[in-house]
Amino acid sequence: MNLNEMKQVLGTRAIQLTKSLGQNFLHDANQLQRIVAVAELKPTDKVLEIGPGLGPLTELLVAQAGEVLAIEKDARLVEVLRQRFRTETGGTPALRLLHDDALDYLKREPRDLSDWKMVANLPFSVASPILVELAQASRGPRRIVGTLQVEVAKRLGAEPGAPDYGVLSLLVQLNYEPQPWFKIPASCFFPEPDIDAAGICLVRREPPPLTDEERKAYVRIVKRGFSQRRKMMFKLLKGDWPEQRLAQEFERLQLSRQVRAEKVSLGQFTCLARNLQGPPPIMSAEIFDVVNERDEVIGQQPRSEVHRLGLMHRAVHVLVFNAAGQVFLQKRSMSKDRQAGLWDSSASGHVDAGEDYDACAVRELGEEIGLQLSAAPKRLFKFAACAETDQEHVWVYRCEAEGPFRLHPEEIERGGWFAPGEVTRWMAERPEDFADALLLIWKKVIRELR
Ligand code: SAM
Repeated sequence: MNLNEMKQVLGTRAIQLTKSLGQNFLHDANQLQRIVAVAELKPTDKVLEIGPGLGPLTELLVAQAGEVLAIEKDARLVEVLRQRFRTETGGTPALRLLHDDALDYLKREPRDLSDWKMVANLPFSVASPILVELAQASRGPRRIVGTLQVEVAKRLGAEPGAPDYGVLSLLVQLNYEPQPWFKIPASCFFPEPDIDAAGICLVRREPPPLTDEERKAYVRIVKRGFSQRRKMMFKLLKGDWPEQRLAQEFERLQLSRQVRAEKVSLGQFTCLARNLQGPPPIMSAEIFDVVNERDEVIGQQPRSEVHRLGLMHRAVHVLVFNAAGQVFLQKRSMSKDRQAGLWDSSASGHVDAGEDYDACAVRELGEEIGLQLSAAPKRLFKFAACAETDQEHVWVYRCEAEGPFRLHPEEIERGGWFAPGEVTRWMAERPEDFADALLLIWKKVIRELR
């Protein structure tokens, strides 16, 4: 449906558009195709469309998906759509039209949309509340694709410390991973909106990071934490949780009591919710074996003492490769006390007291990326403890797996597959992006791969 056809339909029926309903119709064929492409539709897909308007997107959805449920609030447009789809397609069994307020519809009863996709040119007036409703549902759509205000798109993908980071970012990012957004010029709409529009795509995280109960605590913490942006989060949360319990959790996550919510990461909010929802954790100090230059155990000390005194101890690094020869790297969470936010091996960690290297490698793979191995991965080489390894004797392992992995939200911000040559080039250009140990390990790994 092009611009002339739109104007004709509206003119024939003398429909005056309603600004409060965000009636800016998308007539640009390229942008419509782009949105549908991002939705990656298959003939078996079920699609929810909010605000079909005159139906330019609806016709593409009906052509490519198995089932479309379109909810439109404006009765005049519902009438146009009924006629249009009946006359043009002889009645479309794949399309179900509902005359309703989509937000009310979603709120009225919790719906299982877990095997649906949502694709829509959203009315700007209700875009954010609709996204929040969908993103917080325990069974939200697999993929959310749509157009909305650039300003909202920025908030969806914002990271801690950014001016756009806030409640909307955290409520959406808990269950969804925002993909890069693209700008849609105002000239692609009729009438042209006063502000810029963006195409967005959110992909549901699998499995959900929190249970339903934990998610309720998460929403409460996020909303309370941002209720007064300039105030310290600890003080704000004291209104909802006992101070001692909070202090314990902040310490466990190495969060300063002075921190403001705008600096707290998704992983840290997720952990707070999980821990504050459940029973108080038993504060067990991590204990490491202390070893000598020959890697013989000579004692045991808590982690904090081992690091404070620079005592020799043990660690493992595991590199996971896929069949295409790519290596999986993880970006360490900003909540980590060491090397926060840097790219590191697929999984790594300290060997616990009484544990051996092989058992530690299997445990770290399971804990950090959800990869369960029944036997130890292949040993590649060992580094003796030195200043560069932070006084760790390090065994480096490799194994083969294809993913996808379940990344530990407290430990890992995100992960990705990279060709070895790409990693080498990236390290040469921006060594500051990588954990020290990986920089050291990678030089040797590359020699072994040749
Ligand atoms: N999909 C059409 C297009 O791409 O041209 C129309 C998009 S227009 C931006 C938003 C549409 O949502 C309008 O048709 C408007 O009437 C409808 N709408 C506004 N608020 C709504 C609500 N709460 N529930 C359902 N539809 C709504």
